[in-house]
Amino acid sequence: MAKEKKPKLDPLLIEPQEAAGPERLGCSLCKLYTTCKGPYIVPYVPKRWTGLLLAIGEGPGADEDKEGRPFVGRAGKLLYRMFGEAELREDDVALHNAVRCRPPGNRTPSMSEVRACRAFVLEAITRLRPAYVIGLGVAAVRALTNSGDASVTGLRGRRINIPGLRDGEEGLSKAPLVYVTYHPSAILHGHAEYYKEIVDDLKRIGHPFLALPADELPTGNIVSGDMEWRRDQNGEVICAGLANGSSAYATEDVRILSPILRRSTHLIAHSASQDIEKMIQAGMPIKEEWARGIRVADSLTLARMANENLQSYELENLLSSFANIEGWKSDSQSTLEVGGAESVDPETLRRRCAKDAWGAYKIAEHFGSQLRGQSELIGFTQRVASTLSRFSLCGAIVDRTYFETLGEELHAAMLEAEDKLRKAAYAEGMTEFEPTNDNHIRELLYTRLGLEAIEETPTGLQSVGKTSLKNIDHPITKLLLNYNTAEKLYSTNIGSADSDSGIHRLLRPVGSVAGVSVALLEFHFNPLGARTGRRSSSNPNSQNWTERIRRIIRSRFTDGRIGAHDYSKLEPIILGWITQEGYLLDRFLDGTGYVGIAQDMWGKRVEEGTPLYRGIKSIILGVHYDMRTDHMAWQLWNEGIRFSADYDTHWEETDRLREGYLDLIPNVVSYMDRQERVLVKDSAVSSPSGRVRRLPLVEDPKNGRFIGFHHARKQAINFPVQSFASDVTGSAMIDAEADMLRERGLSYIEYIKLLQHVRRKALTSTGDCGIIYRELEMSVPFNEVHDELTYDMYPPTLKRDEEIIIENMKAVRTIRKMVPSFNLPLKVSVKMGQRWGEK
Ligand code: URA
Repeated sequence: MAKEKKPKLDPLLIEPQEAAGPERLGCSLCKLYTTCKGPYIVPYVPKRWTGLLLAIGEGPGADEDKEGRPFVGRAGKLLYRMFGEAELREDDVALHNAVRCRPPGNRTPSMSEVRACRAFVLEAITRLRPAYVIGLGVAAVRALTNSGDASVTGLRGRRINIPGLRDGEEGLSKAPLVYVTYHPSAILHGHAEYYKEIVDDLKRIGHPFLALPADELPTGNIVSGDMEWRRDQNGEVICAGLANGSSAYATEDVRILSPILRRSTHLIAHSASQDIEKMIQAGMPIKEEWARGIRVADSLTLARMANENLQSYELENLLSSFANIEGWKSDSQSTLEVGGAESVDPETLRRRCAKDAWGAYKIAEHFGSQLRGQSELIGFTQRVASTLSRFSLCGAIVDRTYFETLGEELHAAMLEAEDKLRKAAYAEGMTEFEPTNDNHIRELLYTRLGLEAIEETPTGLQSVGKTSLKNIDHPITKLLLNYNTAEKLYSTNIGSADSDSGIHRLLRPVGSVAGVSVALLEFHFNPLGARTGRRSSSNPNSQNWTERIRRIIRSRFTDGRIGAHDYSKLEPIILGWITQEGYLLDRFLDGTGYVGIAQDMWGKRVEEGTPLYRGIKSIILGVHYDMRTDHMAWQLWNEGIRFSADYDTHWEETDRLREGYLDLIPNVVSYMDRQERVLVKDSAVSSPSGRVRRLPLVEDPKNGRFIGFHHARKQAINFPVQSFASDVTGSAMIDAEADMLRERGLSYIEYIKLLQHVRRKALTSTGDCGIIYRELEMSVPFNEVHDELTYDMYPPTLKRDEEIIIENMKAVRTIRKMVPSFNLPLKVSVKMGQRWGEK
């Protein structure tokens, strides 16, 4: 085959320019030329370039500004290291940048600057004709897509189009394959986990595409499924797909799929629990064990367990994290998001559903193979996910009158705080003042009032952040802080029906209970929680709900109760157990806890709830989290817990107490050092149940030090504790559920059907939903917050259900079977009241 002739390169584009500053060849398309020092940057093309790849960065840094050549500094060194790991040779890669002049202070170039320089990016692509282009970081992504909204996370792994790229005669005969990934300097700024992802993205350059599945029914006894359903109350299934690695088939007539499900032993799906619930709803032959989460592989869970550092676990993104694919979702995505699956035309929906099922199979196969030997832990995780999905199906009941009254109070408090602030600003001569506008606040504090800023923003402006406000002692900063608190309380909790935060928009009326108008609120959970291992609900996230907010939740049963069952001191006990630190176990198992430790450290009795008690408790928790004195002292100071009016003396006292506590817990200190050694050796640590937290360490090319080391050390110390604590709670919830169903004589499938039935009935009722919920004939769980499990208690079985919950929280038989050395007693406290949080 005749080799394509390389185009003649335009000297204007390729050769470094001699002239610097404003004289540089008169490029004044934006203002950046006025501040950069050297010649503007031009593409770098190796002498023997193979034509494979053109990588586009952001803009020159200080080193590049001097040399007029891209990526000659720290980020460049890192980038070439990653090229090497991805087996790309130096001659494979040409380099260019989104902007040609250095933005002052290395800031990210604005969209207008990117646009001004975009023609040079397109010109470089047209003339160099690379087979592949990869955009590094957000500025490159914006340049390539010509969109200010585009993000790396949203586009990574997919082929993207470059609007405005010329083709044909003068332009490209064959369009390059264009991808995006993170910028290497993100690693230098502490995101060491991006290293592997960038390498993975680079590895796909030049590799073939994954073959798509045939449009036929899958064979074999392991199948994957995907369900599409209507958005209305009933959520009726409108399309179901089944697949394996090479075939995929979707249909509206779910009966066609039944024989395949009957002969299958294992089921795979992406967010499997939801699909399984929908299959049950559609009358498909689901196995009882699948409903329980056994012999089910969730592609999302497997991916998350194999690599908790990926940025997106959305199906197409996951697939393209290890393979080249042509995406199939984008055509129907916006229609589906706006109008639901029912608005997508049936043929497109079928194709989408079939490929989703196939994608889940491929993802499970890929990540599952990296998790060999972990089947017990995977099974446990899946069972927890399955139970949590039923928490969502149960939902919670909100007392609408209470909610509205609370909303009005919080709204009034916000308006009052705003009014006071506006008046104060007006008194300083600011006729135009928006309390959410940082520039207005800056003008008020630093220009009008002449106060001194204590910090600067990364871009060199006077800071108006919370810490600054707290540390400038002035009536106006107090008004600002009050307003911020009141605004946050209102918007994150209450909100309005059309805002995108708050609870209001999530409420769905379900009639009344005992004459009180109520609504259904469903919590959803990410079963693998944060990377620390901790789970929390989302939409709404109830993690930080105050007592007042919690009380919006009341029982769904007439005369019912909300039972909040909470472990006492679970984390310090687990830390004591992991480190075998007798002192910690003594203090937290015998109940003297923080007061006892405070007595040992301070030598006198410290009353619970006093500032000193809070200070010492913060120090103890801070030590457990590997916090250093600087951070600890500063945090206490900002919380108003001050050991002296003078900061230096306060720092010294904090340090003395911190050291004093460390002396009491020598085994914790040696555990911390051990974790650090493991971290350095393996770039990963594991929890007592075998969960792994990958903490990739990347050396800074300039000084050889690990980037973000202290943060990684903290994670290495905390992860085993936090992750095991959530495994304990996870075990409690699945064990209690099993016992409660046994007591009630229900299978899991029957239970799911019952929950679906009462949910549907309640959502379409306007009358007494207490009567509908009575059909449950048992207490139901609806939330997990920290170490607390929350149930809506059915009066006739309340006593027995209560015993089952508490017994299971103490016994946690599943996790103790998996980790027999965890033999400590656990304590549970209960708050039982008409509303959540009441006694
Ligand atoms: N960062 C970039 O984006 N480009 C360079 O050329 C150097 C650092």
